Amino acid sequence: MDLPSDSTTLETLPSTGRVHVVGAGPVGLLLTALLQSMEGFSVHLYEKRREYTRTRMVQLAPYLVADSLESYRADSIDGDSVEAIFDPRELEQGLAFRQSIPSDLSALLKNWAQGFCPLKSIESSVSDLIDARGLNGVERTAAVVTAEDAMAMLEPGDVVIDSTGSRSLLRDHLVPGSGEVDEGANTVTVRLEYALVITFLYGQSYDCNEYCKYEKNIENAHYKFIPMVHRTHYDGSVSHVTGIVNISSEEYEAMPSRFDGGWLRSNFPSVAQSMDRFIDKIKQETHGEILGDLEIVRIPLDLYRARNATNRQWLTAGTSDHPFASSSVFLAGDSAIGSPYFQSISLGFECAMFLAGLIAQRDLPLRDMLDSYELYIYKQWLRVYMRSKMIKHNKDLFESLDDPLALLDKLHIY
Ligand SMILES: Cc1cc2nc3c(=O)[nH]c(=O)nc-3n(C[C@H](O)[C@H](O)[C@H](O)COP(=O)(O)OP(=O)(O)OC[C@H]3O[C@@H](n4cnc5c(N)ncnc54)[C@H](O)[C@@H]3O)c2cc1C
Repeated sequence: MDLPSDSTTLETLPSTGRVHVVGAGPVGLLLTALLQSMEGFSVHLYEKRREYTRTRMVQLAPYLVADSLESYRADSIDGDSVEAIFDPRELEQGLAFRQSIPSDLSALLKNWAQGFCPLKSIESSVSDLIDARGLNGVERTAAVVTAEDAMAMLEPGDVVIDSTGSRSLLRDHLVPGSGEVDEGANTVTVRLEYALVITFLYGQSYDCNEYCKYEKNIENAHYKFIPMVHRTHYDGSVSHVTGIVNISSEEYEAMPSRFDGGWLRSNFPSVAQSMDRFIDKIKQETHGEILGDLEIVRIPLDLYRARNATNRQWLTAGTSDHPFASSSVFLAGDSAIGSPYFQSISLGFECAMFLAGLIAQRDLPLRDMLDSYELYIYKQWLRVYMRSKMIKHNKDLFESLDDPLALLDKLHIY
């Protein structure tokens, strides 16, 4: 989609750039740290939370710190898709950008890609790094930003990056309309399943692989607890184990959003029994004990993307006096794409690196910048869509391993 040549909008970003990053979760923070280390930007970072408290253990994908094409496509599930979707030049540029990341930040990335760490420590370390670099170009505001605030703060030529997470602040505002906000119209959603994400601590080293998932679930005909591959993490004294159990939409509706093992036992005893059987087998093998209770979150496992991840339709529309007609707006992280199966932060970081690299190219025509970002987000969407469907398909087959007829029903061979 081309911008009109008589557009009143700017052809390129101004030479001294103002960038507003709304949302200082992992993706907003990474973008801020990347832009902070580039010449000529003043970055304004807005965040509504006063402190970082999210304790869930997360791991970054090794491809984020890849230094060669081979290591970038080493993941057996999506290595081939990467080659099919991206041009060799794009991949080389992505790798080159990684090499240019300042050493303070790349050391953190390398560290996170090695093992698990709590989400709050990723957030705190980047936040501290931004502050420790001094006041070079970053101003921080602790406030809830509304869509109206975001529009009011824009001057012509400003960039705004919405990294406010899955309930994106601006996703529904990126397409010119009658003035009414059409909620959800700019979002494509594919619901894969409903699941319980169950986390527990175990006082011994415990590792899981596909055989272990099978063996420990043999007596669990219905509710199988499936730790994700490499989803256990031993920190020297405690293993952090996270996995998912499939539930129906009716069960999902009947549960609170967050609960513990006691609530599960009283209200869904058969799910609790499956967990007990799984955990008993771990204990028989490694002679440890569960520390504390189960922590359980019920979530719909959705894949979604913004149909428009930028405001290029406002710019295409030409002469409007709307603030989005004379500035650039980008969605980043969960604002732009969301995916299940514990891969979203890596995807968000990947897109953040690409976006920072684009914004750094001041002489790039604005229309090319927005088009490039839209295309890149679409390609990342294809990649994560294929990857997630493959994981879901494998999970479905796993559920029927002991029932050949049910298994065959799920196969489509030719
Ligand atoms: C149970 C669970 C386990 C997960 N495990 C993994 C994992 O192992 N690996 C993985 O890659 N991903 C995992 N994820 C997903 C991961 O947590 C998200 O993909 C990631 O946090 C998205 O980062 P983000 O910065 O885009 O958005 P968020 O983390 O949602 O951050 C958005 C930020 O914007 C702020 N904000 C929002 N609205 C406003 C506003 N109006 N004004 C000001 N500030 C605002 C919020 O306070 C927040 O700080 C998991 C998710 C869940 C629910």
